Amino acid sequence: MSAMAPYHLTEGASPILISVPHCGTYIPDEVLEGMTDEAKALTDTDWHVDRLYSCLTDQDVTLLSAAHSRYVIDLNRPPDGQPLYPGQTETALCPVETFAGKALYCVDQEPGPDEIKRRLETYWQPYHAALEGQIARLKALHGQVLLWDAHSIANEVPRLFDGRLPDLNFGTNGGLACGETLLEAVMEVACAQDRYSYIANGRFKGGYITRHYGDPKKGTHAIQLELAQDTYMDQTPPFKYRDDKAPHFQVLLKQFIATLLQRFT
Ligand SMILES: [Zn+2]
Repeated sequence: MSAMAPYHLTEGASPILISVPHCGTYIPDEVLEGMTDEAKALTDTDWHVDRLYSCLTDQDVTLLSAAHSRYVIDLNRPPDGQPLYPGQTETALCPVETFAGKALYCVDQEPGPDEIKRRLETYWQPYHAALEGQIARLKALHGQVLLWDAHSIANEVPRLFDGRLPDLNFGTNGGLACGETLLEAVMEVACAQDRYSYIANGRFKGGYITRHYGDPKKGTHAIQLELAQDTYMDQTPPFKYRDDKAPHFQVLLKQFIATLLQRFT
């Protein structure tokens, strides 16, 4: 049995909280033993997103990242398992297939209700308790907080969306999760560069974390960024981090964060 902590946390003093729920690559032995080789390849991981965002510690942000794979439990899905995008293909709270539709579990090894409940209590709830705790800490310091939920995905996933994604996919639950002027400030920064294509509230509008915590009237503003993976990594195994690409994105990321910080002071 494993006792790895369910998340990594670096606390900062600025009003920006970065959440990285899908970068984890750890699968405990008791889960791994029922899984297929497809699962063990971890293909749908938001690879290296914690590393990519670690450059923001010099802007004094708080960084919370998951240790466990999204194949164990998806921290960006509601605990009752309701769909985020009704009518569209998506993976579940405890997914049983990859984005490409390949089985994650061997025959008769899929998690049942008791195992799903155990994973909720062991992995999902601690991450969300940490998120809630950090939101409360930063609100006490600043009166408001900007929660940036950081993701990445392959540029093309035919089962999930048509064609090729823009590089930067911002989501604020159609505007409900974040003050309008904050998203506008981010879009102005995006508009002022020509390296990356971008869209707001397109295919990805923000998952459970953005929708659940984003509540501008109560001082919590949430923005999800779904980043196309060829901006910073190889999209085939071993999913290498690209030192020739990532720094360009990090320059822009720091501009986004600096712009948001200006709005909070
Ligand atoms: Zn993700």
